[in-house]
Amino acid sequence: MVSVASMSRACLPGRWRSLEFSRLPRDLLGYLLVAEIAAIGWTVLAFRSSHLHRAELTSFVILAAFFAVFEQISPRIERLRIRMTDSHTIDMTSVWTFAGVIALPAALSSTLVILICLVTSRARLRGGKRPHRQVFSAASMMLGALAGSMLFHAPRPHIPYLADGALEAVAVALALAAYTVLNTSMVAGAMYLAARPLPVRALFGTGEENALELATLCLGGMTALALMYKPWLSFLVIVPLVLLQRGALIKQLEIAATTDPKTGLLNAVAWRHIAQKELSRAERDRRASAILIMDMDNFKSVNDTHGHLVGDAVLQAVADCLVDQLRDYDSVGRFGGEEFVAILPEVDLEMARAITDRVLSSVRILEVQTPEGNTVAVSGFSASIGVALYPANGGDVEALLHVADSALYAAKSAGRDRVEFVGLAD
Ligand code: GH3
Ligand code: MG
Ligand code: MG
Repeated sequence: MVSVASMSRACLPGRWRSLEFSRLPRDLLGYLLVAEIAAIGWTVLAFRSSHLHRAELTSFVILAAFFAVFEQISPRIERLRIRMTDSHTIDMTSVWTFAGVIALPAALSSTLVILICLVTSRARLRGGKRPHRQVFSAASMMLGALAGSMLFHAPRPHIPYLADGALEAVAVALALAAYTVLNTSMVAGAMYLAARPLPVRALFGTGEENALELATLCLGGMTALALMYKPWLSFLVIVPLVLLQRGALIKQLEIAATTDPKTGLLNAVAWRHIAQKELSRAERDRRASAILIMDMDNFKSVNDTHGHLVGDAVLQAVADCLVDQLRDYDSVGRFGGEEFVAILPEVDLEMARAITDRVLSSVRILEVQTPEGNTVAVSGFSASIGVALYPANGGDVEALLHVADSALYAAKSAGRDRVEFVGLAD
């Protein structure tokens, strides 16, 4: 399930991270309260209008027990995963909440969400997540569960000759859509009110994260159907769920190990690895390649004038600018500090000049909003670039980096805001 508590810290400006309940913007506070009142009110109404059967209560207990068993089976993975919730985290508890949407009446499915959130919030609060976000996450999931459950259990038309189970499949799909759309859009709304403007990826997560969420929900749907028709088969979900969770954690660890958290670019180790592979390919195919090192000019004065947070925002903007100006198959990394590095496969001297001129021009016109308000923009940046060409300047990454670094030094000495090539005739 998607939860506010799990939204990317890297994607979120410090404002959202440092908010205390009493300091929440009024529109956000109103939004959170309306959602919470609606979730509780709808649950109470659902209880009042339903007559719970013994079989439904049994299903509730079984799902709660499955959840408890799963929490016991994978506490280490779960703890690691929660500690790693610096990304749009994949929360495997969706299996049980969505199974509840299908197998339980609306009132009980909402209650199951409350129970699961109460248990998981302990670990999250210990991990430094804020209580009001936990409460709102629970409310958005309750609303998603209520809507999904009501849709699934709504009377279905009788369509003659329709294959057995076809209408049920449609009902599951509708419930899944209602649960996901309501939950996700409510969380995205809160994030937007807390820290607008935010990129779409920060609001709705990446395609891969959403695919994993979908896989988890589908497992939840299968669990529910097993529970409804062959209860003894529902335990079969545990093994694929543990494997799915482990796969998700490995993916998270892989991203953390290769990504620079401040900019989302490759980190130095991952970049070197990829650059070496690109050079091997260039050697095999007898093609040219270029390596560039870019260093921001007088960056210390940006920090001194506007503070480190603005400095960080500028670094993020410069990273985005590099990614925008380079091609999809160029690999861009942050080498540390305000220094970036890129390998450009199949680029010769002439192309490297055109590309680096384009990059420098776009850095010159960069404007970065200060976090205090959207009215003040910081601008007037420049950068210096040193370029080394394969094979003219060297045959491996280290040799080329050495040459590019010398070229960068020459660009700084020559007055900054320019690109230099060392050891090549102009
Ligand atoms: P030059 O044109 O010679 O490169 O001058 P400069 O000020 O950019 O170079 P210098 O190496 O003296 O300073 C780099 C500055 O970059 C110092 C440090 O405050 C800043 N810096 C390094 N890493 C970060 C970071 O992660 N965030 C922020 N905000 N600033 C950083
Ligand atoms: Mg610098
Ligand atoms: Mg530097």
